[in-house]
Amino acid sequence: MKIHEYQGKEILRQFGVPTPRGKPCFSVDEAVAVATELGGNVWVVKAQIHAGGRGKGGGVKVARSLDEVRSAAQQILGMQLVTHQTGAAGQTVRRLLVEEGAHIVKEFYLGMVVDRSSQRVALLASSEGGMEIEEVAAHQPEKIHTVRIDPLTGLTDAEGAQVARDIGLPESAVAETVTILQGLYRAFVEKDAMLAEINPLILTGDGRVVALDAKFNFDSNALYRHPEVVAYRDLDEEDPAEVEASAFDLSYISLDGDIGCLVNGAGLAMATMDIIKLYGGSPANFLDVGGGATTEKVTEAFKLMLKNPNLKAILVNIFGGIMKCDVIAEGVVAAARQVHLTVPLVVRLEGTNVALGKQILADSGLPIISGDEMADAAQKVVAAARGV
Ligand code: GDP
Ligand code: MN
Repeated sequence: MKIHEYQGKEILRQFGVPTPRGKPCFSVDEAVAVATELGGNVWVVKAQIHAGGRGKGGGVKVARSLDEVRSAAQQILGMQLVTHQTGAAGQTVRRLLVEEGAHIVKEFYLGMVVDRSSQRVALLASSEGGMEIEEVAAHQPEKIHTVRIDPLTGLTDAEGAQVARDIGLPESAVAETVTILQGLYRAFVEKDAMLAEINPLILTGDGRVVALDAKFNFDSNALYRHPEVVAYRDLDEEDPAEVEASAFDLSYISLDGDIGCLVNGAGLAMATMDIIKLYGGSPANFLDVGGGATTEKVTEAFKLMLKNPNLKAILVNIFGGIMKCDVIAEGVVAAARQVHLTVPLVVRLEGTNVALGKQILADSGLPIISGDEMADAAQKVVAAARGV
């Protein structure tokens, strides 16, 4: 689960990481009021969306008077902000962050991710802040310094100081940087993050080190123990189909192809998408209905897939292990009747009572195309999507 920059900064402050003073705003007047309250003579008006690259897309503006704060807020609020992470359609800006302006001497990069191969949290740090880290990794990989943090010790003072020096922070800022690195690590672990990024971390004119941006992504499997993180959720930033799916306990991810997939089990769902690709088709979604492929769940899954205007065919690929194939077949038939299917439906069942299941599909009177093996079903659905 992703959150906004201003929310990420709230978390960073709780863990002792300095950030500029600022507040979220939902209107132009509020933005001016916040700037007035903050005082000073330079402010930054920042679009709050769950995507990076806002600066380049025109979503971050420095203002040198309250009039400039007003016009920046007018420009950004409600704009359709396009960045390399939003896709061509962009994202509507509904929230702003107004902060005191910072005097940037140099920008650095800090990131933390879970490194599966070492089974540790990896700290990535670079002197090349403000840029996309992917660019640095591609062209100047030697400028990324990595520490795989021992969970028993946490990030040690010595490791922190070494990283601070490696990325070129001055000696006078090393102690403060160690505090920031350790605070970021504690925030990452205690909040069950999957990714945390401060890009840029800056050195200011008066020698302080400050987090100018904040990005977090949290492990959704751990959200049950973080109601305070769940409270940060902004449904406006999420795919409506995925939000709806989560309400029905369906694991659903929208994709850009035209073949809807309804599968039980994540592994089988992945294999199904692969085999569709192998036969020249393209999946419209990943969908795992889980262990209990009940009529209700299958019906909701059909409805969800049918909302996609690109959908040309559906493949149901279900292994009846705990659920028997006849029960699943009855569910598929009931669901197909209820939603008045407008696209071809290919069903491949395997498992307990498979013969009975296939018989139920055949006797339903619905134009269901039966697939025998994965390969057969995939070829049939690819052909059906092409109108063959
Ligand atoms: P992103 O583009 O979505 O990653 O948004 P950032 O929060 O990283 O802002 C982009 C860039 O705007 C930063 O790298 C800075 O160069 C610049 N910026 C952000 N805040 C300030 C500020 O307070 N003062 C100045 N001078 N520049 C800022
Ligand atoms: Mn940034």
